[in-house]
Amino acid sequence: TKLLENKVCIVTGAAGINGIGLRTAKLFYEHGASIVITDVNEQACNEVRAMFDEDRSLVLVANVVSKDDCERVASAVLEKFGRIDVLVNNAGITQPVKFDEIQPDDYDRILDVNLRGMLYMSQAVTPQMKQQGSGSIVNTSSVSAQRGGGIFGGPHYSAAKAGMLGLGKAMARELGAFGVRVNAVTPGLIATDITGGKLDDAMKAKILEGIPLNRLGTPEDVAKAFLFLASDLSDYITGATIDVNGGMHIH
Ligand code: NAD
Repeated sequence: TKLLENKVCIVTGAAGINGIGLRTAKLFYEHGASIVITDVNEQACNEVRAMFDEDRSLVLVANVVSKDDCERVASAVLEKFGRIDVLVNNAGITQPVKFDEIQPDDYDRILDVNLRGMLYMSQAVTPQMKQQGSGSIVNTSSVSAQRGGGIFGGPHYSAAKAGMLGLGKAMARELGAFGVRVNAVTPGLIATDITGGKLDDAMKAKILEGIPLNRLGTPEDVAKAFLFLASDLSDYITGATIDVNGGMHIH
């Protein structure tokens, strides 16, 4: 069965060829959705545009940190598709530094893309979702938020991802009355470009010792959790956090 037939779904930060976002957009598309891919990387946007039928897709260059860009995305989606059912806040950046090393502009960058971006993009789509009386927003946090640091994220990344959980829970309370659900996914270590090529074999073996399911995660593992939270399968679930970490952090 197709789980997202006739739904219009936006995924931010979704043009990276090896990323969680593009895998999610593809899975949603396979499930019948019209998909909107946004990304700050213009070249990557141009490369993914041809992967989807034009009548069921829209690829937009947009920076989630810019409120204007977020509003422009929402307007373009409404102009083309007339509704917005799902927003996956997936755009994110990390930086593997220690507490002492965090510089003011690093703090701004990491907090802005992950947390401010979630706020601005959500604010851009919720008026339409409220008007429809339905919508699902899914936020990409991280195991780093829960255990105080992952492997590739510094303390400022943990803070931003933990902030996303708090913001999302508060949104879930406020938006529930309008039929809008807000949930989060907390991935463990997923093999994507975000690791910046720094994941060598020795490091990998050591990490696997701490993962009961004995493998790293794939973008598809996360995409499947997004699919569940985006679809009506989860229609009584809001304010929840789903761990997709192979058991790396059981709490
Ligand atoms: P990725 O680097 O492949 O994807 C991130 C995408 O976001 C890129 O395409 C990038 O161009 C885009 N982006 C960056 N800044 C942006 C901005 N200002 N506006 C719009 N787009 C922007 O990495 P990924 O691993 O696929 O990460 C996806 C999400 O999952 C991120 O939020 C990340 O923090 C989160 N996450 C990843 C892991 C992991 O292990 N890979 C674990 C936990 C959480």
